[in-house]
Amino acid sequence: MDNIQRETMEVDVLIVGGGAAGLSCALHLQNQIQKHNEDVAAGKASGEPIPEKMIVVLEKGAEIGAHSFSGAVLNPTALQELMPDFKEQGCPLDTPVKKDAVYYLGTDFSFKLPLTPPPFHNIGKYIISLSKFNRWLGSKCEAKGINIFPGFAAVEVLYEGNKIVGVRTGDKGLDKAGQPKANFEAGLILKSKLVVFAEGTRGSLFKQVSQKLDLRKGKNPEVFEEGVKEIIQMPPGTVEAGHVTHTMGFPLRKSIGGTFIYTLPNDQIILGLVAYLDTNDPLLDPHRELQKLKTHPFIAKMIEGGKVISYGGKTLPAGGWYSMPQLYGDGFVVCGDSASMVDVQKLKGIHLAMKSGMLAAETAFLGIVKNDFSAATTRSYEEKIHASFIKKELYRVRNFHQTLSKGLLASLPLIALQEISGGRGLQDAMACHEDAKTTDKVVDVWGPEGLLQPENRLPQPDGKLFFDKLSSVYLTGTLHDEDSPNHLKLRDGNICRDVCEPEYKSPCNLFCPASVYEMVPSAKDPQKKDLLINYTNCIHCKTCDIKCPFENIDWTPPEGGGGPRYTEV
Ligand code: SF4
Ligand code: SF4
Repeated sequence: MDNIQRETMEVDVLIVGGGAAGLSCALHLQNQIQKHNEDVAAGKASGEPIPEKMIVVLEKGAEIGAHSFSGAVLNPTALQELMPDFKEQGCPLDTPVKKDAVYYLGTDFSFKLPLTPPPFHNIGKYIISLSKFNRWLGSKCEAKGINIFPGFAAVEVLYEGNKIVGVRTGDKGLDKAGQPKANFEAGLILKSKLVVFAEGTRGSLFKQVSQKLDLRKGKNPEVFEEGVKEIIQMPPGTVEAGHVTHTMGFPLRKSIGGTFIYTLPNDQIILGLVAYLDTNDPLLDPHRELQKLKTHPFIAKMIEGGKVISYGGKTLPAGGWYSMPQLYGDGFVVCGDSASMVDVQKLKGIHLAMKSGMLAAETAFLGIVKNDFSAATTRSYEEKIHASFIKKELYRVRNFHQTLSKGLLASLPLIALQEISGGRGLQDAMACHEDAKTTDKVVDVWGPEGLLQPENRLPQPDGKLFFDKLSSVYLTGTLHDEDSPNHLKLRDGNICRDVCEPEYKSPCNLFCPASVYEMVPSAKDPQKKDLLINYTNCIHCKTCDIKCPFENIDWTPPEGGGGPRYTEV
């Protein structure tokens, strides 16, 4: 495969990832070029008009929005700035938030907090489908002449020394053994003056870049939460749209996390659960916990008569300010979730991703004007981030994740102290631990019973409100070619068989929200089990890349176009 002829394309600005960050970057850059040229023509600005620039957005999903999983609450601050007339432009905002509330759930009781804590105030924001929102943003980009390449996964970063000069996209039409099939198409070489990494959570390319260029030196490690979510269709006339409810407590007992409930027009309810991945629990299974959540009287009453119509899962960065890497270098910048830009206290990152994309666009514009994309120019991106509301929001909660990881009750006084000291608290900066390194053995966490403990059992599936994992995966529309290479790279299967299964009960079998991993009788030793990877089920959440206790899995991009096909969420 080394002698493949590849087409090379020269690009001015290459954006890896067609999510909210990447699309905002592309649109804002094109808007700035257009405005500059209009101002020059009108004599309002000096300099030369900028000739047409080749701006390319690479998206690994089959289309923009296919991999955007989130019924989310959008803070419209960045959108307002990007497109002040977003409502007139048909932005798909499902509903404004009209009410918000926070509940504590015990095993069979619930109570509402008398006052909604300020981080959970959502009035003035909008409930959106991120999938629909990104499709809309993508259409605005295309209308402005931006080149969007859906179905193209970037698989390799191209360097000249430590300078990034482009990426290679993945080959298509390879069989399981990696050999070309009749429909083989060689990946492209895209040479670019600037590469904007906007890959979303745990970006697979930026993971390599940050290691090679040591961009996380002196920073906290990246840490994550895993989220799973369902859309429930309720009978007509039963749901009032615009309610945002958060709950704490049941069902999570050994992991920190919580749930969120959004009500949509068309009598739909979004029910989601997030769990911190720095738990020591080897048997954490967010999908199972989501099913258990629906057995709680408070939730059961709310969703009675409904039917689950959609499911999805993803990780979200939780480390915030102290986990942000160096954001720039020669020929590149990094935006949004790939750079841990999520306010984990409010569970909001879309507006931060959009703003970071816009600031990346301003840096790209500067580079075009100066014809210089070296670190001397891209450094200004990090300065802009520090001067923007991104820093203001993330810095205020810079120790939040580290504190809440200590446990809900233990952390409350410390979080209160952080609230009144602008995020400082008793200790600043607080360290955090890599999620892969926090898992304990089953016997130490659960005793000898482990998976047999009642709270580790899945409620009986009924195909309406309760689902086993495989049936849930069906609702994601996930599709990968069965005869294509496995994109989940296992480093050492002996570890799975000889250490992980006997002592940890193979956490990937549980934390994977898509039943990708399975232990089957070992071919080598009938007393043991081997790992089987059903990679065509993968919904690209990246949890396995993050949480395997032996860092034994590398998530790599599968053939472009594969993966979930989120539409409603
Ligand atoms: Fe354990 Fe990781 Fe192997 Fe899964 S991949 S069995 S979590 S070592
Ligand atoms: Fe997520 Fe990994 Fe499972 Fe794919 S295989 S769904 S990335 S945990």
